[in-house]
Amino acid sequence: MAQLFYDSDADLNLLSGKTIAIIGYGSQGHAHALNLKDSGIDVVVGLYEGSRSASKAIADGLQVLTVAKAAEKADWIMVLLPDEFQKEVYASEIAPNLSPGKVLSFAHGFNIRFGLIQPPEFVDVVMIAPKGPGHTVRWEYQNGQGVPALFAIEQDASGQARALAMSYAKGIGGTRAGILETNFKEETETDLFGEQAVLCGGLSELVKAGFETLVDAGYQPELAYFECLHEVKLIVDLMVKGGLTAMRDSISNTAEYGDYVSGPRLITNETKAEMKKILADIQDGTFAQNFVRECESGKPEMKRIRARDAEHPIEKVGTGLRSMFSWLKTD
Ligand code: NAD
Ligand code: MG
Repeated sequence: MAQLFYDSDADLNLLSGKTIAIIGYGSQGHAHALNLKDSGIDVVVGLYEGSRSASKAIADGLQVLTVAKAAEKADWIMVLLPDEFQKEVYASEIAPNLSPGKVLSFAHGFNIRFGLIQPPEFVDVVMIAPKGPGHTVRWEYQNGQGVPALFAIEQDASGQARALAMSYAKGIGGTRAGILETNFKEETETDLFGEQAVLCGGLSELVKAGFETLVDAGYQPELAYFECLHEVKLIVDLMVKGGLTAMRDSISNTAEYGDYVSGPRLITNETKAEMKKILADIQDGTFAQNFVRECESGKPEMKRIRARDAEHPIEKVGTGLRSMFSWLKTD
């Protein structure tokens, strides 16, 4: 079993006297900045002029500077911009402000793994990647808990990079839940594969195909919505809590038998062969190259598919139904 590290394994004092620049104040940025600040660490936020996030950060009691000024002032620079903007902002505003002894860090390995950012040898390069959305990272911290995180060391110029990364993970509450060591290659490739094959790509298509099959056969869309989308969360909660066995303990014997005989008819050797190709595209950089090209041309495919799927009947039915669920908080 891989080892998890907790609060007692990490030393927050390694960050005392240091200033941490959080670059970007979105989902992860606001959570890291506020958790570190509440842990007693000096934080500044770096944003581009005119960023809509600036007023939020100021209202949260943080000092906001340009990215270049924040990078210049800080001992530690945490890059929490969308992955597709990191290369350019790094080159123009961060790289010129790096000097020996500074730490450059990320919450996802994409830009380092695919060589889009190539830091100088004299800085530490580390990753602290919470395994949850930023809002959960903030919420759990405020409740005295934390979200588990991965940490990784790409470059150890100071000889202290590992202890420093663990210290940062403690500052954002990660060691309250447990942190696991990885490397940039493993984190990037497994993260991309998980979201493409299972969590986002696989699941969205599975839900849509199930819904379409029922509606095409003449069943009410509202029932199809409940069966193929709404109940996903109920089953996933059981799986997360106790694994497949506990989930199967909770469902009826009828559902369990159906699970065993029908699941393998959908996820076949052909599906697994395709998964391997998806993984190969991630590993050899094909996916990264396609994503970079898509972003450079203004994201035409992403916009087209986003608009198309927003018009899918499951979205229309869902909007209507969710507005009637008094117990579903809409925020
Ligand atoms: P986000 O889109 O929520 O926030 C991005 C922030 O960057 C915003 O404040 C935005 O105003 C700012 N920004 C955008 N372009 C900029 C520019 N050119 N110059 C300066 N600021 C700019 O991003 P996020 O989802 O928090 O992702 C940040 C990083 O964290 C990514 O590397 C991502 O892979 C990683 N990550 C995200 C999550 C998550 O749950 N969202 C989880 C783990 C890791
Ligand atoms: Mg992920």
